Amino acid sequence: MKILCIARNYAAHAKELNNPLPEKPVIFLKPDSSLIIRNKPFFIPEWSTQMDYETELVYKIGKVGKYIDEKYALSYISDVTLGIDFTERALQGELKSKGLPWELSKSFDGSAVIGHFLKPEILKNGKDIEFRMEKNGTTVQHAHSSEMIFSMAKIISFVSEYFTLKTGDLIFSGTPQGVGSVSIGDRLTGFIEDQEMFSFNIK
Ligand code: ZN
Repeated sequence: MKILCIARNYAAHAKELNNPLPEKPVIFLKPDSSLIIRNKPFFIPEWSTQMDYETELVYKIGKVGKYIDEKYALSYISDVTLGIDFTERALQGELKSKGLPWELSKSFDGSAVIGHFLKPEILKNGKDIEFRMEKNGTTVQHAHSSEMIFSMAKIISFVSEYFTLKTGDLIFSGTPQGVGSVSIGDRLTGFIEDQEMFSFNIK
């Protein structure tokens, strides 16, 4: 399976990092070795100087598709959850300034945390999904899926022009504003609406 990630998909977040608004979705990938599931702790790598959380809705693909029409794109989603796209911001800044790929700063072991999955009934009728993340009990990110610059239908259609989507693939859909750093001892807890999706410790 592969993990596709969308960068700069919320206007307020693009602004907080001084990035221009994209005209097309900005895509990067994480390997399966980046996954953390079942509330296992996240260990900050020894080489890290600024580890940021990015809270994102994560969509699981339920069937194989290529050149998927936007009209049918949502039928390719089998499950939804909330996750964290961990980003080593200092290293990402260095890579960006040199025009290099971001993978070392975003695709390392443990950089893709996901919660338990919800069935996508939550998506019915284009329903807006509310989500938030608490760091040590204080809400630090809070947004709605309707604030995405590129909708999930658009993203699925776009990425399937380049990558065959397969059952079990995951799509991290971008983070809203409010990203910040974690330290050893922090606890991150994520919610979709009133339901707790993950809660894990930083070590
Ligand atoms: Zn992200």
